[in-house]
Amino acid sequence: MGFRAPHGGNNALSRIGIMGGTFDPIHYGHLMTAGEARWRFGLSRVIFVPNRHPPHKEPRDVSDPEHRYLMTFLATVTNPHFTVSRIEIDRPGPSYTIDTIAELRRRRPDVELYYITGADALEQILRGEWRETAQLLGLCRFIGASRPGYHLDPERWSLENRELRAYLENVHTMEIPAMAISSTDIRSRVRDGRPITYLVPEAVEGYIVKHRLYTPTPAAPREGQW
Ligand code: ATP
Ligand code: MG
Repeated sequence: MGFRAPHGGNNALSRIGIMGGTFDPIHYGHLMTAGEARWRFGLSRVIFVPNRHPPHKEPRDVSDPEHRYLMTFLATVTNPHFTVSRIEIDRPGPSYTIDTIAELRRRRPDVELYYITGADALEQILRGEWRETAQLLGLCRFIGASRPGYHLDPERWSLENRELRAYLENVHTMEIPAMAISSTDIRSRVRDGRPITYLVPEAVEGYIVKHRLYTPTPAAPREGQW
């Protein structure tokens, strides 16, 4: 029997997951969320999309996009269902998800897109804090994963933003085993000399050490920069 998409997804179309983020660095919370969404929603693949310039963050507080892209590549390269896109890395200016999703829709009108987020990001979206939120919710489906410290309650959030209520059927939630991992915590652990083993894939940990990321010493040149 074929997979039935929850809440009326179109079973005739193939489904692709998009996992956007700053990935500074990518960690097991991101990877587990993507893997679980793929399985639960019958996604043929998940495309990780590291942003160039997250609109809500100061550029100088975020690592070089190429470092973040390479760490995302290293973390996903051995999974046949995961891949990484340069669509935001190569687009100048702030990385707005609406631009990315509209472009992916143009490129692949034949697939159904599922944008995967944690509860914190979904809450921002349903509060209307992302650019052109209503258009965004009309262009793809959303999967919000539970995340320690945040509540998954789209009904409640959307009450604050009535315009978005019409799109609630495009928003799905999923409980996942609690992963109290964040990139913020990993960066501060590295700064303080505390371990990050088992929070990130081994290759990502090696990359962070090799390039001296998240320490007061200047970062080493990127791969390909010599
Ligand atoms: P930072 O602390 O720098 O904000 P982060 O850990 O939140 O980093 P992001 O790159 O900001 O990572 O997040 C990308 C996406 O992954 C967001 O949708 C976020 O909600 C989700 N996410 C991150 N960590 C987890 C986690 N532990 N469990 C579930 N979702 C997560
Ligand atoms: Mg975050």
